[in-house]
Amino acid sequence: NADQAMYNAKAQGRNSIHYFTEHMRTDFLKRMEIIKDLRIAITQQQFHMVYQPIVNLSNNTITKAEALIRWQHPEKGLISPLDFIPIAEATGLITEISEWIFNEVTQKVKYWRETYCQNLMISINTSPVQYKNKGKQITAWVDSLKEREIDPQAIAIEITENLLMENQAEVVSVLDQIRLKGIAVSIDDFGTGYCSFSYLKNYAIDYLKIDKSFVQNMSADNKDAALCEAIIVMASKLNIDVIAEGIETDQQKEFLTKAGCRYGQGYLLAMPLVKDDFEQLLIKEQKK
Ligand code: C2E
Ligand code: MG
Ligand code: MG
Ligand code: MG
Repeated sequence: NADQAMYNAKAQGRNSIHYFTEHMRTDFLKRMEIIKDLRIAITQQQFHMVYQPIVNLSNNTITKAEALIRWQHPEKGLISPLDFIPIAEATGLITEISEWIFNEVTQKVKYWRETYCQNLMISINTSPVQYKNKGKQITAWVDSLKEREIDPQAIAIEITENLLMENQAEVVSVLDQIRLKGIAVSIDDFGTGYCSFSYLKNYAIDYLKIDKSFVQNMSADNKDAALCEAIIVMASKLNIDVIAEGIETDQQKEFLTKAGCRYGQGYLLAMPLVKDDFEQLLIKEQKK
């Protein structure tokens, strides 16, 4: 075990190396276990989606939400997407998982628009690997929306800015196809990746999501607040709508609203909700 390894390593006077390799070994084993369990999870339907409302800060109405995946593991309980999405991406399992996400979300959004909120838009996170091979899977799904009678305005696709920096040509063509069909594109975690303003010029982007690290470290007049304000001004001049992520306090909400930020997402406004709870919220919104 780890203690024994540590002891042995120290005894040999090479403690750091042994300690390090022991950690790598447990990490590796954990990873292998997640890979094995992910395969089972796909076939046994252990995933579900939650929907976090995106609030219009000027009137507190909700017509948008972000779909976020959850994995209910039979023994380990709820596993965070931060702990399994990167592994699913590295192993290619993300393709199958995303197929399920697309189907699940499109089915729900269609029903919700028909029943409760005709201009509801749900945004779906996508992974860089999904843009490889000409984005085959994404474009096939986009093409299928028509026969499923789903309005493209029901969907937004979230990508991170790092994706735009890699594989330029391939990614451009996939994003162009998505936008040509009328599906919105959002840049997620804006400001944390290999950011370059040139892509804001070269791509037609609908939404920028200010990363929660800026929002959460913001106080009256520090750099994070200045960056939030600057992003909001820049986006508005480029005709891009801004969504601030991770709003947890009234002060953050007030500051961002005053700065002209149109939309907000965060625990203060609403938690990610399981589909039945999200549906209840849509019913309440209808009565507003
Ligand atoms: P993201 O796309 O940036 O999603 C926002 C994350 O912030 C979510 O974490 C959400 O629950 C969390 N969040 C929302 N409001 C607050 C707040 O006020 N404070 C704090 N501290 N956090 C807040 P979650 O659901 O754990 O997802 C983490 C990341 O995993 C996502 O970041 C996204 O990159 C990835 N992910 C989640 N679902 C999917 C999916 O269906 N497909 C793919 N490819 N990736 C996903
Ligand atoms: Mg996202
Ligand atoms: Mg993200
Ligand atoms: Mg984000």
